[in-house]
Amino acid sequence: MATGRKGPNPWGEEPPLGSKSEQNIRDKASGTASRENKEREPRANVPLNRRRFFYGGAAVLSGLASLFGAYWLNKQKGPTAPPVITDLPDLPDRRLDLTRMRSNISILAQKDWEGRLAGSPGQTKAGEYMARLWSSWGLKPKGDGETFFQSFPVPSFSLSPVNGRMHLVAGENKGNLADNLIGMIPGRDPALRHEVVALSAHYDHLGKWDNQVYPGANDNASGVAVLLEIAKAAIQSPTRRSLAFFLFSGEEGGLIGSKYYVEHPSIPLESLIGLVNLDTVANGDKSDFIYWSSGNLPWREVMEEAARATNIRLQPQDRGMHNSDHFPFAEKGVPAISVLSGTWLEGNHTPGDTLSIINTEKLQKIAEWSWRFVYTLAESAGK
Ligand SMILES: [Zn+2]
Repeated sequence: MATGRKGPNPWGEEPPLGSKSEQNIRDKASGTASRENKEREPRANVPLNRRRFFYGGAAVLSGLASLFGAYWLNKQKGPTAPPVITDLPDLPDRRLDLTRMRSNISILAQKDWEGRLAGSPGQTKAGEYMARLWSSWGLKPKGDGETFFQSFPVPSFSLSPVNGRMHLVAGENKGNLADNLIGMIPGRDPALRHEVVALSAHYDHLGKWDNQVYPGANDNASGVAVLLEIAKAAIQSPTRRSLAFFLFSGEEGGLIGSKYYVEHPSIPLESLIGLVNLDTVANGDKSDFIYWSSGNLPWREVMEEAARATNIRLQPQDRGMHNSDHFPFAEKGVPAISVLSGTWLEGNHTPGDTLSIINTEKLQKIAEWSWRFVYTLAESAGK
């Protein structure tokens, strides 16, 4: 059960951006992103050592610090400052940091990473950034050769419009490789840890064409940012069952990474009791979500209860001509869904899919729902 926050400091005992090594990783990855987002997101880029100075200085120079603190707290309350913490009353007292999620979206969507096309240098940089975070948090690598990376072949691509949206068209295979990332948090109950609850999100996007970057902030830096936040929360509080985290590449080229994984699983597919795939989850109305599924969902009630507790609408929808990375798992008999924003198609696969279309309150809602659902499923006693 939650104990609530102990002190008046909304960031808790520690500065919100985690360990210094994590901050270094984020600073290094930010590059131009921090400069570009300075006006929109002043807080996300405050160096950790300055925050430490603030926290340390408060004890010694109380007068000066409270003056600065009042100014600083006032800034948090401004109209553009997103709420920082999601409290989950029925769950262990874990913090989901909205500022860090937004910051991770802007890092992934930065121009330097050129739209993260599968097999491109930008996708590689994004993968390396996330692997460094996982490594610093202590996730167990489940990719090739004791790393987080699972390499697979991808063709070259071209870009073509279909019904007003751009799509990748696969060309020849010229020896390019892309990477899935696979990490795990072993369960703490020896009797249940062979059962695994999985969370996935694809981190690739359409790339850069005709000098136009397709940043893919909603598709799917948003799902990745939520997944990273859940992994960070879960590592601090291992559940009875194990948790698996998949960051797929090649989704935009036709689910290439997830199809490869189900044919080359490093975590046996039979052990997966459920997979939730997050894809384009943060634009539009804050409470409006849909999901695609195929086949039976033994945990449908848990999923719906988490939606009620989070106060969101999560409606089943026919996926029509669209698809996402839950599908190869569902075809292999794993109960699996993809969760999307109800309005995911708006601005999708255009250069306008930037941080500006991300609804911060919605990001908070989907992170909260994900944590409730994943935690409950992995922690509950029976099947
Ligand atoms: Zn897409």
